[in-house]
Amino acid sequence: MLSFSEKTHTLDDLCNWHATGTSLAVIGHPVEHSLSPRMHNAALSALAEDDARFSDWQYYKFDIPPERLCDALPLFHKKGFRGLNLTVPHKVNVLKEGLAKPDSKSVVNMGAANTLKWHAEGYIAYNTDGFGMSRAIGEHLCVGNAMPLQGVSVVLLGAGGAARAAAFQCLREDCRELWIGNRNQERLADLLADLNDSRVRGFDITQEQAFMPSEPLLINATSVGLREEDPAAFSLAGRSESWRVFDMVYSPAETALLRQARNRGFPAVNGLPMLVWQGALALAIWTNDHFENALTHAPIFAEDMGQALAL
Ligand code: NAP
Repeated sequence: MLSFSEKTHTLDDLCNWHATGTSLAVIGHPVEHSLSPRMHNAALSALAEDDARFSDWQYYKFDIPPERLCDALPLFHKKGFRGLNLTVPHKVNVLKEGLAKPDSKSVVNMGAANTLKWHAEGYIAYNTDGFGMSRAIGEHLCVGNAMPLQGVSVVLLGAGGAARAAAFQCLREDCRELWIGNRNQERLADLLADLNDSRVRGFDITQEQAFMPSEPLLINATSVGLREEDPAAFSLAGRSESWRVFDMVYSPAETALLRQARNRGFPAVNGLPMLVWQGALALAIWTNDHFENALTHAPIFAEDMGQALAL
């Protein structure tokens, strides 16, 4: 039987929420697959062993459909949820609807947030996805590089919340060029306009591409692959073995895209290490008063979280 923190809660559960202690949660739709409660609760248990202030902190998951986000966030705030992680499809809408206040200019420019921290006047919005992605790629695909995307040609799939964070991170680390492919061309155009950088070009993911960078890092930031039966988000047929693949999807552990990469012998990794690093920084933001302290604490949490997921 699932424990209370492993159960997928709903907006109705939130209306009647009486859990004691400090609550944290991930909210998304779908969210059933999320491993965030497991890894956050493991890191919180380890933290509580050294510091009793954290002994009543718990992390939960809530399935909140997009049309209920505006109702849900004020309620989470009223119920005192200290921190929230946002996943598919809420990262952009939370800012568009003015439901949280960006903590920095970079979150405003990015137009997406994955981490909210309680403040008396409302939630403050952060984004830890770019940091998480960069750490994951640095550990597994561009090993030993402090700025793993520097000088790299990147092909990025998607123009949603995660893709926005990825694109801004690529430019921040001074990538060589950034090709962004999406299905919805209007959403892609919005992202290209926000990036406003001559190194960036867009393409239609549904059309065959004659030209591509020759030795790129391919990043899947679409939700294609989340369902076992999904096709590959991109065809690797005919690509040279100098391609590397990073798929943000971590459940299932091997998407059709990663299977293609493995069959062709390309270096490839799924989104699990990114999940760990973005989560570690989020937890550090919730447990520390200053962002600089959060950056120092994230590696400690990442270790506990990685162990919880057997990474
Ligand atoms: P989102 O804002 O809802 O964006 C979804 C993206 O997927 C959009 O670009 C959308 O394209 C595309 N898409 C959806 N269905 C598609 C289909 N059938 N064919 C082609 N494109 C399709 O979601 P998100 O928050 O950016 O998350 C995207 C993915 O990244 C999810 O799988 C999420 O789990 C993963 N993620 C993982 C981590 C991690 O830590 N590992 C962190 C963040 C996100 P359109 O614009 O054409 O609809």
